Amino acid sequence: MARIVVKFGGTSVADPSRIENAADKVLAEWKRGNQVVVVVSAMAGITNQLVDYCQQIDPGCDACEYDAVVASGEQITSGLMALALQKRGLKSRSFMGWQVPIICNEQHGRSRIDNIPPEKLLSEIENDIIPVIAGFQGISKSGRVSTLGRGGSDTTAVAVAAALKAHRCDIYTDVDGVYTTDPRMVSSAKKLDRVSYEEMLEMAALGAKVLHPRSVELAMAWNVQVQVLSSFETKIGSDLPGTIIVGEDNIVEKQIVNGVTYTRNESKITLLSVSDMPGVAAAIFAPLGGAGINVDVIVQNVSPDGKTTDMTFTVPKSDAIKAKTLLEKLDFLADTEIRIVNNIAKISIIGIGMSSHTSVAKTMFTTLAENKINIQAITTSEIKVSVLIDEKFTELAVRALHSAFGLDQEEAS
Ligand code: ASP
Ligand code: MG
Repeated sequence: MARIVVKFGGTSVADPSRIENAADKVLAEWKRGNQVVVVVSAMAGITNQLVDYCQQIDPGCDACEYDAVVASGEQITSGLMALALQKRGLKSRSFMGWQVPIICNEQHGRSRIDNIPPEKLLSEIENDIIPVIAGFQGISKSGRVSTLGRGGSDTTAVAVAAALKAHRCDIYTDVDGVYTTDPRMVSSAKKLDRVSYEEMLEMAALGAKVLHPRSVELAMAWNVQVQVLSSFETKIGSDLPGTIIVGEDNIVEKQIVNGVTYTRNESKITLLSVSDMPGVAAAIFAPLGGAGINVDVIVQNVSPDGKTTDMTFTVPKSDAIKAKTLLEKLDFLADTEIRIVNNIAKISIIGIGMSSHTSVAKTMFTTLAENKINIQAITTSEIKVSVLIDEKFTELAVRALHSAFGLDQEEAS
């Protein structure tokens, strides 16, 4: 008997009939003698609508009330799923985040889970009751409803799997796995059978939308085996060839490059002629960090006169204006010109085999040069190389790199 957490995304619970279809999978898993715990997203489109309602009333609305509104989508689906399971003769009940409880920090709108005491869920499981947990939501230590950031119900599922020491966390979604790149952009993209946590973390953070990045972080920290599966297949769980996300040790053949990702959601901010002395970078990035703004690629130029330098970095597009406003308040930047460029894309190649191969960056840069794509900035880590380029070349760059690294699927003959 295995203990399995199954999570259904928005398209898999988009209407009552899809909820029934998802309930059939839970039933089939149960009939195999497994213990099942369900986590659900809101019905597709509902969270967007709820966010829009908040913004219509106040675009800069209070984050606590924003959470109270947007958390409601998952409440609906958890109740409906419990009903669908009961209709199938199973014992089931819904759980809101506060009832579990899923205890979160106070960062409303993008809260992090601190702790999930497992006792209540375990006692339900022992009584053969299938808990259906509303994903995406929790309760802050001060007792307010909180949410985990868009896409956060994956994180609920993995965190619950960790808390319950589940054997697996199956994430049912509208794609049948994780691909080498976005299959909507590149039709020759291949489904990956296995991906390491490290690679998946980079892929999720760098634009592959299959999983919430925080869910992968948690899976890695707690060694939760995650499987991404299509809910539109008739097969379930271990019978489906989805993508399994596991530790690096479980991957025998380490690919040099396993994925190409892109994101168009960042803005490039350049500070011209900032004084080049100790403490400046700290003084620039501390207020941004304090405001919860994620700074990504950072490039500092050489300082020809030894006094001033240009500093370039990226932030999420939605935070660019806020970042500029914060920087303008810094006295020592009073005479500094702050430029924002929005039409950039970040293209990344990812692979755990990369660290032992020196030619990867060269192949990437040559491929871009052959396609006359100018690189505006570069960052690297052990398992990825990212470049910033003009947004209009996104598709060209992704396709060219996907081919250059041998990821194209052979044409079916
Ligand atoms: N319903 C939330 C969203 O749309 C959370 C999720 O689906 O993962 O962002
Ligand atoms: Mg999702």
